[in-house]
Amino acid sequence: MNKLYDVLVIGGGNAALCAAMTAREAGCSVLMLESAPREFRGGNSRHTRNLRYCHDQGNAFLTGPYEEEEFWNDLLLVTKGQTNQALARHVIRESRNLGGWMEAHGGRFQPAMRGTLHLARTNAFFLGGGKALMNAYYATAGRLGVEVLYEATCQDLELDQGVFTAARFDHLGESRTVQARVVVLASGGYEANLDWLKESWGPAAENFIVRGCPYDRGRMLRVMLDHGARPVGDPTQGHAVAIDARAPKFDGGIVTRLDCVPFGIVVNRDGRRFHDEGEDFWPKRYAIWGRLVAGQPDQIAYCLIDAKSIDLFMPSVFPPITAGSIGEMAERLGLDPNALEQTVAGFNAAVRPGRFHPGELDECATAGLDPPKSHWARPLNTPPFYGYPLRPGITFTYLGLTVTARAQVVMADGQPAPNIFAAGEIMAGNILGQGYMAGFGMTIGTVYGRIAGREAARHALEQSERS
Ligand SMILES: Cc1cc2nc3c(=O)[nH]c(=O)nc-3n(C[C@H](O)[C@H](O)[C@H](O)COP(=O)(O)OP(=O)(O)OC[C@H]3O[C@@H](n4cnc5c(N)ncnc54)[C@H](O)[C@@H]3O)c2cc1C
Repeated sequence: MNKLYDVLVIGGGNAALCAAMTAREAGCSVLMLESAPREFRGGNSRHTRNLRYCHDQGNAFLTGPYEEEEFWNDLLLVTKGQTNQALARHVIRESRNLGGWMEAHGGRFQPAMRGTLHLARTNAFFLGGGKALMNAYYATAGRLGVEVLYEATCQDLELDQGVFTAARFDHLGESRTVQARVVVLASGGYEANLDWLKESWGPAAENFIVRGCPYDRGRMLRVMLDHGARPVGDPTQGHAVAIDARAPKFDGGIVTRLDCVPFGIVVNRDGRRFHDEGEDFWPKRYAIWGRLVAGQPDQIAYCLIDAKSIDLFMPSVFPPITAGSIGEMAERLGLDPNALEQTVAGFNAAVRPGRFHPGELDECATAGLDPPKSHWARPLNTPPFYGYPLRPGITFTYLGLTVTARAQVVMADGQPAPNIFAAGEIMAGNILGQGYMAGFGMTIGTVYGRIAGREAARHALEQSERS
């Protein structure tokens, strides 16, 4: 490729598109390299449903205001203070009224649906989901004149004394090089790279299911770390939920999540319970179950419910395994019938009478059982019984690149690389040191994508004037 681009964007999801559109609108020539073929473009962003942003009043799709302080306190709560306060505040402030910018670039919203109402005030839901949002952004980017190469996987970056000069990428079986004044790295995390996950999770990672796309393998993160970029975030932290073990290894998306846990019991391969299934409301707890299942032998677990609970949660995409008795269920799941019968009998005997209420932290709890079940504990005694196999489903990783408020990548000596910017999951660890709150991944990507696009354009145009 002979052309010298102003801005090269590596990645094809939300952060990449926000950066590319912004840089192009500022007058730059922009090339995007997306690993995926066109049909699968959009990274994990195409699996999303909503994003949260600061707003002072409700509108057609948000039920009320969500101000900076509340947003900040929500973040403090989930991260337990593991966040870069300055950058986190920056993201929150810059997210103000983001919905308007998204609509101007093709995004469409809808009111929250039943089942997601607790997010109706804080989070804006994408009409048609993340896939529709990505398609709209690609259409807008195309109209603006952003060039996109699909099936183009960046392998290496050439740096001359800390300054980016060119990128080497594979495209349809050929190795090619492209030069640009500035590069924006928006290539996601490394959650699809099981070998890398094994470095911190051990061999257990082999049994993880990747909820998102197979392309987020962390190549650009590794390349930049090798070039001396300063890492941020804990490699053992990330977002993992318990999902249906029958889900495909990659790209199963949100439908493979199972929400039955609070209404039943969860046993491991040995037929034993290992954690309080009714600790708190499911939206507050589902993200711990990925890690819990990862800690069990063979990284497999089974959720069992009975006929009383089958209508209390979102139906599963794979039908449950059904049985007329616990012994039969054990056989169907490949568990030891004696062990499972013993576990269920012990659980049933420990359940104390109380008023059952699926929408409240109710009084139905066990007594004298280890581990206890603190809420929604009812005996498993009403056939048919239903079983669901569970595996850890990894959503995204937190180890990333340290960035400045201007989205510049910080090198080991603490100095920002002048023409290397990062946005999205590759730098989310600056703000999410641990924990997660729904809709914040897209906030970070949109805010930082726009900052990276703006700052990259500024730098590229200055360089172009000088030359
Ligand atoms: C099932 C699921 C549901 C989710 N739901 C939500 C939600 O509702 N709200 C929310 O805020 N967050 C949600 N998230 C998290 C959200 O997806 C991410 O935070 C967000 O998409 C990150 O955006 P990104 O642009 O950084 O990465 P991505 O959207 O993953 O994009 C990365 C892109 O880089 C490309 N790429 C990777 N390596 C290379 C390379 N070497 N060369 C070229 N291209 C490369 C990939 O193909 C991909 O296009 C969800 C995640 C999953 C898996």
